Formats: sequence, structure tokens, C-alpha cells
Amino acid sequence: MQSSAPALAQMADDEQHSATELVEVLHHTTAVRAAADYRMLQAASLIHDEREQDHLVRLAAELGEQSTSLANLERLAQRAAAGDNPRARFGPTGLEAAIAEVGAALTVPPARAREFIEAGSVLRHQLPFVGATLGTGRIDLHRFLAVVRRTALCTPEKLDLLDKIIAADIETREPMSMTRFLAMIDKHIATHDPAATRRRRELVDSDRNISVRPDRHTPGQSRIGGSLPAEHAAAIDARLTAMAVGVHGDDPRTAAQRRADALVALANGAGALDCRCETCTPSPDGADIDPADVDSTDVDSTDSDPADSGTGVDVVPADSPCAPRATFHIVVNLSSLLGLDDDPAFLDGQGILDADTARRLVAEARRRYVRPDVVAEPQSIDRYAPSKKLADQVRSGELCCSFPGCNNSAFHADVDHDIPFAQGGRTDPRNLKPLCRFHHRIKTFAAGWRDYHDPLGEVFFQSPTGHTYLGNAFTGHDLFASVTRTTRPPDDPARQRIDTLRTRRATSIKRADKRAMDRWNAENPPPF
Ligand SMILES: [Zn+2]
Ligand SMILES: [Zn+2]
Repeated sequence: MQSSAPALAQMADDEQHSATELVEVLHHTTAVRAAADYRMLQAASLIHDEREQDHLVRLAAELGEQSTSLANLERLAQRAAAGDNPRARFGPTGLEAAIAEVGAALTVPPARAREFIEAGSVLRHQLPFVGATLGTGRIDLHRFLAVVRRTALCTPEKLDLLDKIIAADIETREPMSMTRFLAMIDKHIATHDPAATRRRRELVDSDRNISVRPDRHTPGQSRIGGSLPAEHAAAIDARLTAMAVGVHGDDPRTAAQRRADALVALANGAGALDCRCETCTPSPDGADIDPADVDSTDVDSTDSDPADSGTGVDVVPADSPCAPRATFHIVVNLSSLLGLDDDPAFLDGQGILDADTARRLVAEARRRYVRPDVVAEPQSIDRYAPSKKLADQVRSGELCCSFPGCNNSAFHADVDHDIPFAQGGRTDPRNLKPLCRFHHRIKTFAAGWRDYHDPLGEVFFQSPTGHTYLGNAFTGHDLFASVTRTTRPPDDPARQRIDTLRTRRATSIKRADKRAMDRWNAENPPPF
């Protein structure tokens, strides 16, 4: 729920202005935006402060401590960090709670919200002088965030010095292009904190390409980077994941390492990753294990019951999981698949695909058919876990995590009950939505978040501060023209009730917007 741009009256006047005056308008709007961004970062950081306090107070309450003196709170925080309290380990921290609220208010994903919160803290505590140049419009948000990122590896003492030096350079020079600006920042860092420069990693950032180059900062290590069309990147991503999970659970490598090994296997022409669990790679001193005995093509030569075989080694089953299929999820209308229309498809985690590309990708894929208008069968409503088909229906309708601002993939998200199952919530599409793991935890454990479906399938979230956000303003129902959002007729009482509520809300928003606009205009007079 956001107020619309408050300067509508001024914008209408712009039609009458000359180019000279309009350039003044550009200067004015740039300065106002920078000042607003300064305030936005500060607000994000202050919300975080408040949520950290709440978190400590809640910990104190849960640990049964009466006093909330600062020393006591710090002691509690230490105990919590040491694992005293399960919520401290598994529930949201003050930072996570703040990320959810800032993300919802600004409609940005968690990573972006976190960047703002952390930049706000840097602005207030570490780089106040550079921050002031943002507040006065000498630099913009983009440049301030660049300073924050580039100085992230500097020590606190060096930051104090760099803050003053960089701010002085910004104040005494005319505005400069990003390339010059970054060169200026990097030169100061290299001069005053060379260790930070050495630690910094190089980023690859350009159009379609794959680069393999030695890591200048870590001998013996190379970096692979690149940019690709979304469908190709998704195919590689899905293939690497499929190969990485295709080995046995005992494989000692981390998921990240297995993905890296999978890429090397692909380069060597292999379609699967060799498993490194003890069964698949017997140690040389395990003399009683003959590699042939555990070869998946030779299962019959070993004792069929490993418990009796005396080796204590599991046999690789004939249908070894080490034969992965790449999996990615495309939601496409059946009519488009059949070539009856060219509606776009949606590639989970990436975005819209044109119908031709979708048909090509789906040609050999396994398909699951979902009827968007079907409600759950009575026997599944009272089961906690939704059926595969029901989960698909919920996910394909929502495109991504349904928390406001979040972009996380719907098919890797949890399927969440609005009204918890334990409190009588049904396992029914009208009570289910995809929530990524982060936001599922926020909703479940963070204090003060509420969420509900209205009868038309819109998912509303109410934040701890009482603000309400619509989580799914655009869904598969909007994407696929032939899919209706609801089977309710236009004169259905539920629909009329919603329409009344909407009108009432829109009117009050309009009034609030008008007030905000008047206030803003009074505080920000035009430059002429
Ligand atoms: Zn194995
Ligand atoms: Zn999410």
C-alpha cells in the first residue's frame, strides 16, 4: 500500500516549462531524491535497531529474566548465541525481522532490504561524512552504495580516515561519472588501506559470455563467471543441481562442492557425477571390499542383505540415483502448448518465456496438468501435507514467493497454510500459498505478522507496525488470459463485499495521498 507520487500538480506545470527550466527541474528532483534516499536508509537502519531491542526483550522474557538492564540483555544475547534458546537459533533475529518489514514496505527482496539496512547503519555510524554528501545531494544512492560495498573490507580505523578523505574529495570536486567516481574511491582505499584492496574480489559484469580466469588474489584458484539468456542459465543451474543431488547421501562433499564438480564432469563429457561415498569409493585399506561387488551393474554378485554380508556396506541399488535429470519448472497454458495461441510461459525463478521457446523446452519434458479452478478433494482438506498436484496448483498460480517484494522461486518455496493446520486451517488452495523458507520462518516465528486470503485469492500481509500489503498483485491468473481468477459470478455476494471494501480503502488512500501531497508540496517548494 503506497501513496502515489505527491508532486502531480508540479508535473502538470512542466508542460509549460522551457528546456532551461526543465534542466533546473532535473537538478531539483535529483537533490530531493538523494535526500529522500538518505532518509530511507536511516529509517531502515532505525527499524533494525528497534527490532534488535525487541529481540533482546523477548529473549529476556523467554529466559524468565526480570531485569532488562543493558548488561543483563548483553549477557542474555551471549547465552542465546551460545545456543541457550531454540528461538535464537532457529527463529528470526532482529535483523531478519527488520529485513522482512523493510522488504515489504519498499517491495524489494530480502537481499536488497538487507543492503539498505546495512548501508543505513554504515551511514549513521561508519561513514557519516560520506553519508552527509548523499543527504545534501552531492552524490546519489547508487554511488553511496558503491562506497559502502567497496569499503566493506576496511578496518574501522581506516574507515574513519577514508570517510573524511572521500567526503572531502566529493565536496571539493564537481559531480563525476561512475567510472571516475569508483576510480577515486578505489585510489583512496588502495592508498590508505592496501590490505582491503588485496582482499577484494573481482566481479564479472557484462553481456552473454563465460569467462574462466585465474583469481588474482588467491593463487591456484580460478573464477568462472558469465551472463546468459535466462533459459540457458536456468538449464545449467538445474543440471548442476540435479547432478549434485544425484549422488548418495553419504557423499562427503558439500552441495556447493558437488555443483562445482558437476560442472567439471560436464566439461569432461560425463552426464552424471561420480559418487564419493564409502560404498562407491572403497578406501584402499578396506581390503575386504571388492570394488566389483559394489558396482551398480553387478549387484547380483553381492550378498543381497548387507547386514549379513559382514562388510557393513550398502549395495548400490540397480536403479541408482546417480543418474540425474535436470529439473526446471515451466508454467504454460495447455492451449499454448498445443499451438492454439502464443500466450507467454513462466520459467520458475527466471521470468517470462515466449511461447516458441517454452514449447521447445517442454517438448521432451515430463508434464503435470493443473486445473486452476479446482478446489481440493474433501479427503485431502483434512490432511496437513498438500498432495503433489495441489502443491503444483498453488505454486504455478503464484509465480514466486507470495511475500510482498520477494522474488524467490515458487517451486523451491514451502506451501504455507494461512490459517495454521493445527488451528483448523484447511489444506485447500484458498488457504495455501508459496512462501520461501526465509519468509515462512518470518511469518511463523516473528512477532506481529499476520496474513490472510480474501475470497478472491488475494494474499494480504499485515506487518508488526500495522501496515497492510498485498503479496500477489500479479499472478498466473493475470498472466494466462484464459485462466479466470475465480469461478464466482460477478454478482456473487463475496465479490460485492470485496468491491465495497476496495472502494472504501481506495477512498481513504486517496484522502491520505492528498494530505501527503499537500504536506510534501509545502515542505518542498519548486525551485521557481
Ligand atoms: Zn555412492
Ligand atoms: Zn520470500
